[in-house]
Amino acid sequence: MPRFHITWGTGPEVVRVFREPVEEAEARGLVRFGFRHRVDDLIVEDDACVGVRGSLLAPDDDRPRGEASSREVVGDFELRAPAVVVTSGGIGHNFELMRANWPTERVGPAPEHMIAGVPAHVDGRMLAITEAAGASLVNKDRMWAYVEGVHNWSPIWPDHAIRILPGPSSMWFDADGRRLTGMSGVPGADSIGSMKQILATGADYSWFVLTQSIIEKEFALSGSEQNPDWTEKDIKMMLKERLAKGATSPVEAFKEHGEDFVVAGDLDSLVAGMNQIARGGRVLDADLLRRQIEDRDRQIDNPFCKDAQVMAIHNARRDRTGKLMRVAKPHRILDPAHGPLIAVRLNILSRKTLGGIETDLDSRVVRPDGSVFPGLYAAGEVAGFGGGGVHGYNALEGTFLGGCIFSGRAAGRAVGRAVSG
Ligand SMILES: Cc1cc2nc3c(=O)[nH]c(=O)nc-3n(C[C@H](O)[C@H](O)[C@H](O)COP(=O)(O)OP(=O)(O)OC[C@H]3O[C@@H](n4cnc5c(N)ncnc54)[C@H](O)[C@@H]3O)c2cc1C
Repeated sequence: MPRFHITWGTGPEVVRVFREPVEEAEARGLVRFGFRHRVDDLIVEDDACVGVRGSLLAPDDDRPRGEASSREVVGDFELRAPAVVVTSGGIGHNFELMRANWPTERVGPAPEHMIAGVPAHVDGRMLAITEAAGASLVNKDRMWAYVEGVHNWSPIWPDHAIRILPGPSSMWFDADGRRLTGMSGVPGADSIGSMKQILATGADYSWFVLTQSIIEKEFALSGSEQNPDWTEKDIKMMLKERLAKGATSPVEAFKEHGEDFVVAGDLDSLVAGMNQIARGGRVLDADLLRRQIEDRDRQIDNPFCKDAQVMAIHNARRDRTGKLMRVAKPHRILDPAHGPLIAVRLNILSRKTLGGIETDLDSRVVRPDGSVFPGLYAAGEVAGFGGGGVHGYNALEGTFLGGCIFSGRAAGRAVGRAVSG
């Protein structure tokens, strides 16, 4: 599955191909949009869902993109239909709900400080509303949060987090300055394993330590605004951004303005900068970091290297794309020729909700006793991308949109059959 950030045209283009046919249908009178209609309740009569009711929010069209729109209620509405499909998304902007359902026994204590990888409207509110109407919710403790979050220096939504999509070379330390071990210490290799090691310290953040050479080759940022060349479908800009020397301009902007970034000419100054932004009164010891970095650096030229991360770097450079585009040439972190040194404080960021409303294979909502809830369907992230959780505890990157489309198609077909008889 292509990730949004590497689809030509990114998120806006992914949306366009689905939006246009619906707009055409609206022009033909087949579809009516209900903007500023907020559903607060499902109408259930004789055990079947027969409609929705909710609040009409005040018109508020002229706000800049991303700014929260008014929640002033100016009226109410009630709509009736032979079928209702809930597609209200996940819970990722509702930290309270995330903490209440956090899988502590699998990954460790819920993070005290989290940042939001999804917009404010992803509030999980419809889950409780649908449950109160009689639906079964399952797998509530399944969620796909990331450990490589940085505060967006130019936010679009509150607590806006951007995920770093890292290559394998940054060294990864927990909040006490101890290197993450095994494959969990290789950036991008084992999200849940890394999360466990990070949370086991009692802190809710970790550190990348890297060089300018690594940031230039290996840092990509998730999000349409962070990839203007792909979003604008601008080949010239893409070639300039990706092939020219230096990091892409969005990455450089983060390095310059981001509150999680520290840049320094030597390790002592770097650690001093890291200690200034460390949370919870933790203090890093420069000597402890130096010993571990030197140990790793010694392995770079060793043909019989046993350092799991260095082995992973060599492996990642075996294919041409990895070598050319994604993985920095192996070098010593403390080699000034590859400087300056960079540290990044990595926060936990919310993203996908892997559980939710339980449905059958036709996206029909089921009740806690397993019986079908007549008239009610659920699809997309609110249904754990289908059924109440198609991914299990882990998830494959890029497969979320696929689950939304697949469960939406199942719902559409089933509604068509039910309504047309
Ligand atoms: C930055 C980012 C990058 C991502 N990258 C990828 C990727 O590369 N590949 C991938 O597969 N997935 C990716 N995802 C995940 C994917 O985008 C989402 O899982 C997917 O868009 C969810 O679609 P949805 O229609 O179920 O919910 P949403 O897109 O969240 O839509 C829900 C809609 O319901 C509305 N709503 C909610 N409650 C109510 C209510 N009470 N009344 C009326 N309306 C309501 C909301 O306003 C919203 O418009 C990414 C997500 C983010 C945030």
